[in-house]
Amino acid sequence: MRKIDLTNFQVATSETARQINRRIALSIIRRSQPMSRADLARRSGMQRSTVSAIVEQLIDEGWVTEGASGPSTRGRRPRLLHLNVERAGIVAVDIRPETTRVALAGIDARFVMQAGWPTPSSPEAFAKTLAGTVESFRAAHQDIVFEGVGVSLPGRVNDEGELVFAPNLGWGQVNLRRLLESEIGLPLALENAASACALAELWFGRHPENVRNLVAVTVSEGIGVGLLLNGQLVRGGGAMAGEFGHVVIDDRGAPCACGRRGCWEQFASNQAAVRHFLGRNAARKHSGRRAGRSLQFTDILALADSGDRRAVATLERMAHYLGLGISALVTGLAPQVLVIVGEVTAAWSRVGPIIIETVSSRTLPGTSTAIVPTDAGTQPRLRGAVTLVVQEHFGAPNVA
Ligand SMILES: [Zn+2]
Repeated sequence: MRKIDLTNFQVATSETARQINRRIALSIIRRSQPMSRADLARRSGMQRSTVSAIVEQLIDEGWVTEGASGPSTRGRRPRLLHLNVERAGIVAVDIRPETTRVALAGIDARFVMQAGWPTPSSPEAFAKTLAGTVESFRAAHQDIVFEGVGVSLPGRVNDEGELVFAPNLGWGQVNLRRLLESEIGLPLALENAASACALAELWFGRHPENVRNLVAVTVSEGIGVGLLLNGQLVRGGGAMAGEFGHVVIDDRGAPCACGRRGCWEQFASNQAAVRHFLGRNAARKHSGRRAGRSLQFTDILALADSGDRRAVATLERMAHYLGLGISALVTGLAPQVLVIVGEVTAAWSRVGPIIIETVSSRTLPGTSTAIVPTDAGTQPRLRGAVTLVVQEHFGAPNVA
């Protein structure tokens, strides 16, 4: 019996065996394409007749195509199965407090087109704006079948689709899934951005295939943590697991949007860096930025690149505090891999060594967690949103 590692086992158990077999077949084809039906039967352990029926259905639905012939051992050369990456369109949405990015992607997380706009202050206005963008994507790509929408957001969503905690977004407790589905008319999956990024690493990351314990730390306006332990996404009571960004590390620290003071994200987030950079002279606008635009974290990255000592010191301090929090994650959870997502990874040559040194000097001897930055070029938060839809169809990333 092949071991199946479904990331959401509770959903899978309520499905019929045929649907589970379909997911397994799709996952194996995705990993091992091109492959023959005989290979698929061998690898899945399914009967040839079962494989044939599933493959026919997958070809009918357009998920799989039969392409060039492969080598034959004797007689007829088998036609090989490929995933039809062109066919399925996924709308990926990355909500951040200031801006929202929306992309149309294939099931291989390749982006076809993108849009971005300032995040509206109410969820209702957000739903209408997003529906308009999806409509424009549909109009531009009438050949693509829109399978669903994946939304990654800076907060936590419960099983019912209600926003239960999003202090940096300020939308209150709204049933976001119901609101967005009714406005857009497509199936929709919502997840915390860090959890979505952790799933994306399992699906699309370049890690050893046996990675089952992975932590993603998203560093943005706040800090989010996504936990994949024993191959499962950890959601916790009330879907609140992973809120390490709101662990208080200094009672006298700056006030936080969550209502406490001195949370980890008040020391190590982008916003914390901006506040530290401006320091006591916050009232004094940074020179050259009087045109109504306030200083952004990316400005600090650029200033550090040009040798600004204050910007360099700000990033070094941020790296130190990132390392402090990460050392707790590494000691407590022993992940095989810890990925860092966010603009700060662009300065990895500066911040990476400080983070790694801070962690290694505060963790147990023999700790082997690999601490790696994600490649900002892959747009990891959007890729996380793609994964939310991909896993609904494939659902068994570690098969084969
Ligand atoms: Zn907090």
